Amino acid sequence: MSVHEECGVFGLISPKTADVAGAAYYGLYALQHRGQESCGIVINDDGMFSSHKDLGLVSEVFTSDTLSRLPRGNMAVGHVRYGTTGGTNRRNCQPIEVNHQKGKMAIAHNGNLSNAAELRNALELSGAIFHTTSDTETIAYIVTRERLRTPSIEEALSAAMNVLDGAYSLILMSSQKLICARDPYGFRPLCYGKTADGMYVAASESCALKAIGAEFIRDLEPGEILVFGPEGMVSRREHCGRKQKKCCIFEYIYFARPDSVIDGVSVHGARVQAGKILARKHPVQADIVIGVPDSGLDAALGFSMESGIPYGIGLIKNKYIGRTFISPGQDARMDQVKIKLSAIEESIRGKRVVLIDDSIVRGTTSGRIVRLVREAGASEIHMRISSPPFLHPCYYGTDIDSRENLIACHHSVSETAEIIGADSLGYLPVSELGSLIGGCGYCSACFDGVYPTEIPADTRKDRFEQKLGKNN
Ligand code: SF4
Repeated sequence: MSVHEECGVFGLISPKTADVAGAAYYGLYALQHRGQESCGIVINDDGMFSSHKDLGLVSEVFTSDTLSRLPRGNMAVGHVRYGTTGGTNRRNCQPIEVNHQKGKMAIAHNGNLSNAAELRNALELSGAIFHTTSDTETIAYIVTRERLRTPSIEEALSAAMNVLDGAYSLILMSSQKLICARDPYGFRPLCYGKTADGMYVAASESCALKAIGAEFIRDLEPGEILVFGPEGMVSRREHCGRKQKKCCIFEYIYFARPDSVIDGVSVHGARVQAGKILARKHPVQADIVIGVPDSGLDAALGFSMESGIPYGIGLIKNKYIGRTFISPGQDARMDQVKIKLSAIEESIRGKRVVLIDDSIVRGTTSGRIVRLVREAGASEIHMRISSPPFLHPCYYGTDIDSRENLIACHHSVSETAEIIGADSLGYLPVSELGSLIGGCGYCSACFDGVYPTEIPADTRKDRFEQKLGKNN
């Protein structure tokens, strides 16, 4: 409940001038779960760029008034953000727009570079001046620098991908082209589809394609660049070397929406499977299985199916919370549980409850949820977690950032159960992660410490702000 996803990206190109802002709005609305701090849309009307970006939810930033002020156009790129690098401020809202020597570019990025600090230092030493503190501007700088010595924007991106390390799913827009790219490991998802009236649409998750009536075509391959432009659609796959796919396993467990399909695997199906495995690995006598909304619900269903213990609805989530309660920082998190969740006493009172959640980070949120269920009258609470314990930080675009804050680094399973107030606790075994997605390549570094790339020396979210402060 306390891990945050980094961002969601969305882009489209239409064969004729259309209300691309409206389509991007609905696409971003479907991706809102990937980031609630800020959002933005850049429209391309035959080479003229217009944009609107701000802090807040999609429905807050894009009122009917702001949407009506955006022109019709033939391309759009959009972004929802939860800042894993760079603070929460308007400067860091995306898409980033750049005017460079060869034209214009807008760029939206999901993920974190693991070599961002080195790349940024090198650029600054060569005279670059940064306006934001996010990794995305570093990517924009490298692409535009490469554009000076390459014949096209896609060649420039291809050259940039030789030096970028880490997680990035990108959507770039030039005056004539929409370009999508997925890093060579494929950490973050990116797929594309097409609408009945001929618009090509790309998005972090397939749920955003559905939202605007586009038919899913396929996921981008790790390392693939897909270009939509005057020459039609062109795919480039062989430019940055073959790597073994390492899609983030936590996308399936928590980040993605259950109605999305990533790399051919249903997110809902993966979560149900996690619940079934939990029922086999950590069986318990109980009267009801309930899930913590939203990402615990599918696994709770799987646990119930496998164990035969009835599935019930025991916790309700208030879905109408604005940004006030979804901002980062410990103080905001402390207040969230009671405002976000409410227990249904009729389901719970006097019962032995299996309570399913997706993860435990610090244990604070889990403790509050267990207390909520206890106060609703549960006689026993058996917590089951549809992921393994977090033991290592993530460097690829989430805020699992420090071993100090991870309860499993300092306490055994039984100690953790006691701390959160549960009668028993069971995690999904690391060895079972592959079976959630049929064994295809995945990253599980936050659980097993096996990192696909070099680990950065400085991983603080505010590392670029700190540096600015020191030097001035
Ligand atoms: Fe996902 Fe964990 Fe890998 Fe980060 S370290 S990309 S959260 S599996």
